[in-house]
Amino acid sequence: MDRRSFIKKVGVGSLVAGSALAGATPALASKRRVNWKLVTTWPPNFPIFHQGVKKFAKDVKRMSRGRINIQVFAGGELIPALQSFDAVSQGTVEMGHGAAYYWAGKIPAAQFFTAVPFGMNAQGMNAWLYSGGGLELWREIYEPRNLVPFPMGNTGVQMGGWFRKKIDSPADLKGLKMRIPGLGGKVMAKAGVNPVLMSGGEIYTALERGTIDATEWVGPYHDQRLGLYRAAKHYYYPGWHEPGPTLELIINKAAWSDLAKELQMIIETAAAASNMWMLSEFEAKNLAALNTLKEKYKVQVHPFPKEVISTLRGYTQEVLEEEAAKDATFKRVYEAYRKFSANNAAWSEISEAAYANALKG
Ligand code: CA
Repeated sequence: MDRRSFIKKVGVGSLVAGSALAGATPALASKRRVNWKLVTTWPPNFPIFHQGVKKFAKDVKRMSRGRINIQVFAGGELIPALQSFDAVSQGTVEMGHGAAYYWAGKIPAAQFFTAVPFGMNAQGMNAWLYSGGGLELWREIYEPRNLVPFPMGNTGVQMGGWFRKKIDSPADLKGLKMRIPGLGGKVMAKAGVNPVLMSGGEIYTALERGTIDATEWVGPYHDQRLGLYRAAKHYYYPGWHEPGPTLELIINKAAWSDLAKELQMIIETAAAASNMWMLSEFEAKNLAALNTLKEKYKVQVHPFPKEVISTLRGYTQEVLEEEAAKDATFKRVYEAYRKFSANNAAWSEISEAAYANALKG
């Protein structure tokens, strides 16, 4: 009889009570099989995002030699996509994957852990989260919600979006209806844009019918798949509003605390591996997609005019100050984020930015 069927027959309780076997309890506890459910906010088979989550589940299973089995459900398969925060918080399921800024309505400060307009890129975000106190702050803020967060995925700098008409000055933004969520949407509102929220599946039809005049989505690789080039021809960069959006893995706190230490390490390591894998996929695939958009679909790719960028940067400061005045936690995270990103920008001046200039010169 193997150990598992033995446990099944006699029950764990009697094993613990039996004095001869009491010493074996911790080892048995760590050999217990864990079957968890993970719900994502992504459509089924959504490239890179959903693939990265599947890779994570597979890595965890292999590293734990089958002790942790994670079943992955796309948005809507088990519960509606944007109910994953509550489902994991309440322990209906053990894990979720999405982006912290989806929960801005519950925790305004959560937005800092995804993306801030004119904020840090992927490299800066990883530096802040892993080595600059960001992750500790994130965990502290999610703790009252019974959640333990992990960075897991990053798109890199996104594109600025698709516009049906050319944008030559800040005045051209006035009156536009644009699909743009979060803080970026609040900044655009100050420029006279009417920001609209809609899920990925609704964007193409709305743009094609002229219900909206513009939209942001992700970057060339994903935008091409959505067919946005058929509905608008002007494609702007850079994605000032989402310079390095971090995706999140969330785990129910009680389920996490119940895991043996080595299993926690396996999850943490696999999440970090998927964090790197997703960013690498975007970096590797975006340019080929951009070239197809330009050459095959005759998309006109433009940088935002300097004046548009400086106007939006000014409004970003106003939005962040206004949000900080409304919410003490937002203010606290904003201060930590601002301090780290200022140092990060100063270092970048003589490292990444200086090197980018050297390549041109
Ligand atoms: Ca986006």
